[in-house]
Amino acid sequence: MTLKIAVIGAGPSGIYVAEGIKKKLPDTMVDFIERLPTPFGLVRFGVAPDHQGTKKVINQYEKFFDQDGIRLIGNVEVGKDISVQDLQEHYDAVVIANGAREDKRLGIPGEDLDGVYGSAAFVSWYNSHPDYKDLSPIPEHAKSAIVIGNGNVAIDVARILVKSAEEMSDSDLADYTRAAIDKASISDVVIAGRRGPAEASFTPPELRELGKLEHALPVIEGAVIPDELPSHIDTSQPAGRIKGKVLDIFRSFTEMERDGKDKTIHLQFLASPTAFLGEEKVEAVQFERMELNEDGKPTGTGELFDIPADLVVSAIGYYSQPLAGVPFDEKLGRYPNEEGLIQDNLYVVGWGKRGPSGTIPTNRPCSFKTSQIIMDQITANPAKQGGQAIDKLLAEKGCKVTTFADWKAIDAAETKTEARQKIASVDEMLAII
Ligand code: NAP
Repeated sequence: MTLKIAVIGAGPSGIYVAEGIKKKLPDTMVDFIERLPTPFGLVRFGVAPDHQGTKKVINQYEKFFDQDGIRLIGNVEVGKDISVQDLQEHYDAVVIANGAREDKRLGIPGEDLDGVYGSAAFVSWYNSHPDYKDLSPIPEHAKSAIVIGNGNVAIDVARILVKSAEEMSDSDLADYTRAAIDKASISDVVIAGRRGPAEASFTPPELRELGKLEHALPVIEGAVIPDELPSHIDTSQPAGRIKGKVLDIFRSFTEMERDGKDKTIHLQFLASPTAFLGEEKVEAVQFERMELNEDGKPTGTGELFDIPADLVVSAIGYYSQPLAGVPFDEKLGRYPNEEGLIQDNLYVVGWGKRGPSGTIPTNRPCSFKTSQIIMDQITANPAKQGGQAIDKLLAEKGCKVTTFADWKAIDAAETKTEARQKIASVDEMLAII
């Protein structure tokens, strides 16, 4: 008997869970239910527009969708057009792979001022996500920005703000983003971390890019780069050894000359945000100077200081979105699960399973583990009609469903020019199909 699986979300973790099952049970039929007519989730809307190498993984995903038994049911929102329970009724197993697209909040005064954005919104804006194309986050006069957080998303945001059109020529940055960045001409970007250089979550290739910017110089502020890693970092582990490389890169920044660079990326350490200041729009961020205990945990010193800014992006992590009738941990922002199993025939993979961590390839082994569990626990039920029943249900509801062939038509329209010009409007996409 053929297994029938529904995957909610056509991003990397969903594709990998299906790949894991198809490798062992090639007859399995998988329907990807995707809110937008465009597949590939985080690769399209999360990976930075100047990281085209990372986006090449799409070539593998295209081949995956080419095989028998794989369908894209696009432009259908689970929770609105159709419920998780509808899917559970008609498929042998349902896998939630909807990522984490809500911004974690700092919960400090002034967070709702104009000019303060979460990185989920800001990154989606510069990556032409239809929900955020009208965000317009960069004030015309903006000369300074603060990015809160010491992870790779903070680096992406800072880099995009200071790179010139020439440096971005191979990217798929939206025209409207380019125009907004050029009009403002931000010269100072502060990346603020509440802990020190050794505790930052940056990874070496991403951090190194800050030293290769044509117009911006990275400068260390608020902390001295230690000669050795602090004792709370375990250098016998790969993660600890990465921290050593990160410190070497910071050290190389301290030796760099300005060489005519007129922009600065201030790597401001040991600074924890306590308030966003301003009347109607943000004008500054108030920080408390932190010190670290021997475990590397930050504690406040009571010393407060302000850094002015015309724009603030908080890049401190993400939450998944709850789905009606599915258990959800509001505090952690993800679905409680055991290696992907939520309950009965319901599973979760990706950031909804383990939280917002890891790169695109991290998802493959993580999703494969859940594929195995699904295959161990689920047997095909002949009473379940899978896609046939769902197609009927969606037709009855009058949904304008899109397919993978429709995506290929959108893709062709976007790639008429040398650099992809992403279409940021669903209506425009539907008009092409
Ligand atoms: P992340 O790596 O988890 O970093 C989050 C940062 O936010 C940390 O520095 C954390 O500091 C800080 N933070 C959290 N709560 C805070 C608070 N209340 N106040 C101040 N700071 C706070 O998350 P991310 O940057 O969003 O990245 C998500 C994942 O995607 C990561 O695994 C990342 O490597 C990956 N990613 C990879 C790439 C790439 O490979 N090119 C690009 C983008 C993202 P503490 O450490 O002190 O908690």
